[in-house]
Amino acid sequence: MRHLVWFRNDLRAADNTALHEACRDREAQVLAVFIATPAQWHEHDMAPVRERFLWRNVAALSAQLDALGIPLLVRTVDTFADVPACLQSLCHEHAISQVFANREYAVNEVARDTHASQVLAADTIALQLYHDAVIQPPGLLTGAGSPYTVFTPYKRAWLRQLLSAPPVVLPLPRQRHARFPCQADAVSLPSSLPMDVWWPAGEHEASKRLQQFVDERVSDYGQQRDRADLEGTSQLSPWLAVGAVSARQCWHLALQANRGRMEGGDEGIQAWINELVWRDFYTHVLASFPRVSRGKAFRESTEAIRWRDDEAGFAAWCEGRTGIPIVDAGMRQLQQTGWMHNRLRMITAMFLSKNLLVDWRRGERFFMQQLIDGDLAANNGGWQWCASTGTDAAPYFRVFNPVSQSQKCDPSGAYIRRYVPELASLDTREMDTRAIHNPPDSLRIALGYPLPIVDLSASRQRAIEAFQRLRG
Ligand SMILES: Cc1cc2nc3c(=O)[nH]c(=O)nc-3n(C[C@H](O)[C@H](O)[C@H](O)COP(=O)(O)OP(=O)(O)OC[C@H]3O[C@@H](n4cnc5c(N)ncnc54)[C@H](O)[C@@H]3O)c2cc1C
Repeated sequence: MRHLVWFRNDLRAADNTALHEACRDREAQVLAVFIATPAQWHEHDMAPVRERFLWRNVAALSAQLDALGIPLLVRTVDTFADVPACLQSLCHEHAISQVFANREYAVNEVARDTHASQVLAADTIALQLYHDAVIQPPGLLTGAGSPYTVFTPYKRAWLRQLLSAPPVVLPLPRQRHARFPCQADAVSLPSSLPMDVWWPAGEHEASKRLQQFVDERVSDYGQQRDRADLEGTSQLSPWLAVGAVSARQCWHLALQANRGRMEGGDEGIQAWINELVWRDFYTHVLASFPRVSRGKAFRESTEAIRWRDDEAGFAAWCEGRTGIPIVDAGMRQLQQTGWMHNRLRMITAMFLSKNLLVDWRRGERFFMQQLIDGDLAANNGGWQWCASTGTDAAPYFRVFNPVSQSQKCDPSGAYIRRYVPELASLDTREMDTRAIHNPPDSLRIALGYPLPIVDLSASRQRAIEAFQRLRG
């Protein structure tokens, strides 16, 4: 028997459901493939830093699989439409009887898999798909039979489901009795940029970071997670996005550290697991409401908002020169590292969609084009939360004040100083610490830092009125 495992954003050998199932029969010979679709990635706004990271993880996976006797082939086609024929010819060439893959939930990915399944079925080859990307499969239904749209009741149902069937973390498959009789393809890596050093690839690296975070920092997560100036969060999102670590592995290790308690126990661990549930929730929303993949607002009434055409404001936001120090620091962290702290994502997204009243879809797209952890479900969920157009979103009248947010998430101004060199000379003396969050005009001029591009309180009022008009 010959099995093919089709890897996508699940680039690890341990705790990989599709790989585990393909290897279940010890006698089966197992081959693996990764199919690159550069034109599709471009259409989906995949960030170059994410693409480079993806390739480095493909290379790490290839070495890992090779040691198990599973060669990894690499194929490149243009778009998802070309994938079924590519798989079909591989199956013919290598006399494959079954193909195994883990599900992806956005509409184009689902259509690709349906098409591939039909093409393979015509040759009596089954495509077996598994839920693997999340801790709980999406699609949890309320008592009335509709998908949950509010986080708190979703989380309660998620917990009930978890207690009735706790997910199992799968071990690394054992080495095959017989290696698949072909050579692995060499993985050609795109050239690296300096920011790539922040993000070493591979599941060993991911597991090491997960273990370190759980051993050393997770207990402080509850207090430190909103602090941009501290390393208070796991920074595991890039590895989760390409699947070099699974959400189940994260959850399981956190649960162990909490002595097996799902509720109660260490507050930091509870808060961290809560974020993993948010990740599941947004994937559930994406899978249950296809309009979310198609660029539509979850709350359809908000499609009537008159967003502003503000090219200069949008450019200033993208480039981190809005004159609001915390917003500029966040946007510059994104440009320099390919990653941004969650609190900063919220502050910058709210600033664009509320203070500038620019369509959230423009910001969502820009984030996707820059983020190493770009993920349609989480990115769309985060943007629609900030823009008050989504499920369980921030109420439209709760507009963050970026200056008071800045004082809370970066009290000493260390984060701003790191990313906004114009303000780095402001030292930590009492007056300067306060000034760094909103420098007086004279200081801005002296330091060559821009004046704010918008008045915070008038623009807040303008956003509230735009939402109020929907109701009137
Ligand atoms: C506007 C906006 C856009 C975002 N875009 C993305 C994105 O493209 N990709 C992405 O992975 N996350 C996104 N997030 C969610 C969140 O900001 C990141 O997951 C988090 O900052 C990653 O840092 P971390 O790994 O240190 O997270 P931790 O705080 O350590 O959390 C652990 C993991 O839980 C998940 N997670 C945490 N918070 C959230 C959340 N609010 N929603 C969904 N999952 C979460 C992530 O996988 C994260 O790695 C976005 C949030 C906002 C507000």
